[in-house]
Amino acid sequence: MDNQCVNLLKSLIKNKCVNDGTPGSGNEIKSARTLKKFFHSYKIKSEILESAEGRANIIVRIPGTDPHAPSLMYMSHMDVVPAKEDDWSCDPFGADERGGYIWGRGTLDMLNITACSASAFAELVKKHKRFPGDFIYLAVADEEASGRLGARWLVENHWDKVKTNYMITEGGGFFVRGKQGTGITITTGEKGLAWTKLTTEGNSGHGSLPYRAKNAAIKVARAVTEMQHQPLKPIITKEYREMVKNLNFPTVTQNLLLNPLTINLTLKQLYASTPGLARYLHAVSRMTISPNILRSGNKVNIIPDKGEIDLDIRILPGQNVEDVMAGIKSALGPFKEDFTIEVVDYFPSNVSPVETPLFEATVEIFKSIYPGISSIPTLFSGVTDARFWRMRGSTVYGFCMFDEDMTLDEYVRMLHGKDERVSLKSLELAHNYFLNLPEVFYRKAAQSQ
Ligand SMILES: [Zn+2]
Repeated sequence: MDNQCVNLLKSLIKNKCVNDGTPGSGNEIKSARTLKKFFHSYKIKSEILESAEGRANIIVRIPGTDPHAPSLMYMSHMDVVPAKEDDWSCDPFGADERGGYIWGRGTLDMLNITACSASAFAELVKKHKRFPGDFIYLAVADEEASGRLGARWLVENHWDKVKTNYMITEGGGFFVRGKQGTGITITTGEKGLAWTKLTTEGNSGHGSLPYRAKNAAIKVARAVTEMQHQPLKPIITKEYREMVKNLNFPTVTQNLLLNPLTINLTLKQLYASTPGLARYLHAVSRMTISPNILRSGNKVNIIPDKGEIDLDIRILPGQNVEDVMAGIKSALGPFKEDFTIEVVDYFPSNVSPVETPLFEATVEIFKSIYPGISSIPTLFSGVTDARFWRMRGSTVYGFCMFDEDMTLDEYVRMLHGKDERVSLKSLELAHNYFLNLPEVFYRKAAQSQ
């Protein structure tokens, strides 16, 4: 096992770059300096770009030998989400090594990749000096908030420095075991988001006289109930179809999941055995609307004249703001005239193609370790920093190598939760993946030209 990689991971955990969503948190400069020192020990020059005080990003770009060859980037984030220390069986920022695992906040999301891709990158530059295309390492701040001080800021302000044709980042490499075989997920895209505010009016009045009052709080309650009863119709997209086909279900189940008339009942049955998978397949087969904040009234004896609902809406590839408006109106049913609708934050769904040298290289490498296992191109239900590059035409996949215990269910269970940990075996596999990738990638890229 590469000790450089394990030591680097431990330092990154101990740096405690906790992002609680406020601009003053994160302090990724600590880990940026750790990485700068690490690269410096290999005589590799890196550059730190600060978006705000303490909010640092670090980049290394090794120019390629052929200006026509595609560039390849390893991209990760240095910030982590907070940890409730009382819930943990160890210090979440102690970086303990115990039972074949490194324990600590960020060991799966995603300091494992930040460390393993850095150690492999440094080793490769030392050995090969240069590849045909630009070879880039980027570690960013603020992924756990919105990327405003990290990825988004870099793409908007330093595109020349952070542009790339191909990128590997977080979000894949998890085992899914079905009745007919096992697959490994490679995230190829994400759903889009449309955070939306619904507003309604009522007539204020005295709380002691409710008869026939126009109470905005009641309108809010009715609307939320209606949205639960009028769920949006499933859509069998190309991405969903491919995913279901790759999930190793028996043919009967597969057909039921691919039929808009039978999918909902099948998901209900699937939920009994694998709730995580059922929730996931539900999310990627439709636009989802989740009413997450309700506001109305501010005094117990006054009938409220205003009500608001904040909706977290997630959209499929190909859907846009018009589809969002139509979706809300359909979900509101008879109450649609009662509300004004305002989309307050919007980002479209984004998907990279699978017929690329980077996808093929990744499959070739994991099959050399896990023969007979298939690849599962996956649409992520949430958002990551990958979206900022996909929107500018980069091909981006979420992938890392793990040991065979890292199932999709296990990952979802530990993500942002207590006792987050990564096995030494997984770290070794990840380091080797990042070490082998450029050679296989540039071989495939040359073949496809
Ligand atoms: Zn992450």
